[in-house]
Amino acid sequence: MIIRIDEIQSSSSEFELRFDPSEFDSLGEGITLRSPVQSRVHIRKVGVDIDIKGQLSTALQLDCSRCLEPQIFSIQNDLHVIYRDVRWVETAPEVQLEAEDMLVSYYAGDTLNLLEVAREQILLAIPLQFICKMDCAGLCPQCGQNRNLGKCSCREDKIDPRLAVLTKLLQN
Ligand SMILES: [Zn+2]
Ligand SMILES: [Zn+2]
Repeated sequence: MIIRIDEIQSSSSEFELRFDPSEFDSLGEGITLRSPVQSRVHIRKVGVDIDIKGQLSTALQLDCSRCLEPQIFSIQNDLHVIYRDVRWVETAPEVQLEAEDMLVSYYAGDTLNLLEVAREQILLAIPLQFICKMDCAGLCPQCGQNRNLGKCSCREDKIDPRLAVLTKLLQN
């Protein structure tokens, strides 16, 4: 959904948004949207800025950082972001003075694409490290076996190959 900047009023308008996963470009490797993105936002103009406030929810499939098994990650977040005309990047000294928990993003042109706004919020919500469970045992570094599913036969005390060279030197 695309809204024209000059049609945004200083009194907020409410938008009920629903995007199908197929509308989004790739969010990154191993990341898949598994349910529609639903969002309710209040949009208003504050000075030269566009103030967007609301909620966003969806579900993603992410690979666990340790065992690489795909898992469902739900997002149900409040959002509050200021969109500023990119032409003001250099000239607005008050940017740093704004509340630090508020996000400032930039738009260029006469329109704001709410699909892009949603996409940005989703990307921000994805954790850098995603672990399927606190005690995920990960993969065996030697054979790649998923240790959550069972033990492999690799010996834990196998000597590091770099140490093996040392051991050999000591024997001589
Ligand atoms: Zn895991
Ligand atoms: Zn193993």
